[in-house]
Amino acid sequence: MLNNLNNKKIPTKIYLSEEEMPKAWMNIRAAMKEKHEPFLNPATLQPCTAEELSKVFCSDVVEQELDQENLFIPIPQEIREFYKMYRPSPLTRAYFLEKLLDTPAEIYYKFEGNNTSGSHKLNSAVAQAYYAKLEGLKSVTTETGAGQWGTALAMACAFFGLDLTVYMVKVSYQQKPFRREVMRTYGAEVIPSPSNTTDVGRKILAEFPETGGSLGCAISEAVEKAVKTPDCRYLLGSVLDHVVLHQSVIGLESKIAMDKYGIRPDVVIGCAGGGSNLGGLIAPFMVDKLNGKNDIDFIAVEPASCPSLTRGKYAYDFCDTGKTTPLARMYTLGSGFMPSPNHAGGLRYHGMSPIVSKLYHDGYMRAVSVEQTEVFKAAEQFARVEGTLPAPESAHAIKVAIDEALKCKKTGEKKVILFGLTGTGYFDMTAYGAYNDGKMSDYIPTDEDLERGFASLPDIPQNKGI
Ligand SMILES: *Cc1c(COP(=O)(O)O)cnc(C)c1O
Repeated sequence: MLNNLNNKKIPTKIYLSEEEMPKAWMNIRAAMKEKHEPFLNPATLQPCTAEELSKVFCSDVVEQELDQENLFIPIPQEIREFYKMYRPSPLTRAYFLEKLLDTPAEIYYKFEGNNTSGSHKLNSAVAQAYYAKLEGLKSVTTETGAGQWGTALAMACAFFGLDLTVYMVKVSYQQKPFRREVMRTYGAEVIPSPSNTTDVGRKILAEFPETGGSLGCAISEAVEKAVKTPDCRYLLGSVLDHVVLHQSVIGLESKIAMDKYGIRPDVVIGCAGGGSNLGGLIAPFMVDKLNGKNDIDFIAVEPASCPSLTRGKYAYDFCDTGKTTPLARMYTLGSGFMPSPNHAGGLRYHGMSPIVSKLYHDGYMRAVSVEQTEVFKAAEQFARVEGTLPAPESAHAIKVAIDEALKCKKTGEKKVILFGLTGTGYFDMTAYGAYNDGKMSDYIPTDEDLERGFASLPDIPQNKGI
């Protein structure tokens, strides 16, 4: 082991100095020859205008959302200062995992769990809170599922002095009391969703009184609250292009660190819920691929229980269960899809980032789905040798990184694998407990289950034949 380590010039952790950190985000869309379809207004089926989007979102964020020209978008000084509190995040060479697997592959991971919120979500939360403050808003709303996004936004809003209301998916609210307390400590109001504080919440409760809620439903409530409150906007933690833009800091830092040592990845792997960490991790590498400069194998990993890329449809769909948002063309299981309650590993959103969807649709990347018991097995293997306890979401990427490294062992190929380790698993001990007790099961939706979700797709001419 020691010999092996001494022979390598690459340190276990590659850090960047403050000067080396990125000064601009990277907008993948500017490099895409074919752009994804625009948002449609569900009432008129015409592309949404900036004005329409500004009723829900902050105006600077809307500008970023609609920008398909500028490859680089400067990161405001205030945001760069905030980033310095927890960035750069380390890029780690997984020497111990490589040894365990006895693989000729080199494995690297970028760990985003090194801040109190515990995941990459803070990268966009701070940007969105900054723009909200700049616009003179008093308060913002959002939804949170597992709780990472709500926590990240609570930290960012506390920093910039904004009031925050978080609609938290009811099952998580009950199962994750500590998440809730972190948000409250940072000053956020946390409401279990569906709730009776909104019309859409009351409607869903009347129809499904026992429901544990869903992300799509919490989004509907948060949007309604934002639209009905003066000087308030809604902030979203994934899916949208501006979130992918902010998350490009992950990929940019990774590339700067790798370039210092001449490391060129052959495979880049990320877990995919709404697609933001994946889109951000791949950004600079994908832009090079789009420009013909590399042929990297990009892999999106999703849970078999919520398989939007691998079994979904590339259709126009609502981003929420209440069908209140604009329509996005994306891979989706239908906004009415509800993942099985057994599913403990996160990544339970019905849709997928339009950018990631388009890149996947056009063949620039591939997707695989994995079952949760093998995900937790990979998490355990990783934690025991690399030290870090991964978030279950992140462990989806670990699972596939291990699979790819084991393929190299068979073929003797010395591939360079990079994956995104998006967060820490400290808040997911209930799920780890189920795994440790042997009580975790895999549920793969049947075709009939999926058909029920697809039946909720909007019946519009644009979706004919899809
Ligand atoms: C939210 C989250 C994800 C999934 O979200 P994406 O938008 O797909 O990146 C993955 N990992 C962790 C730790 C998360 O908190």
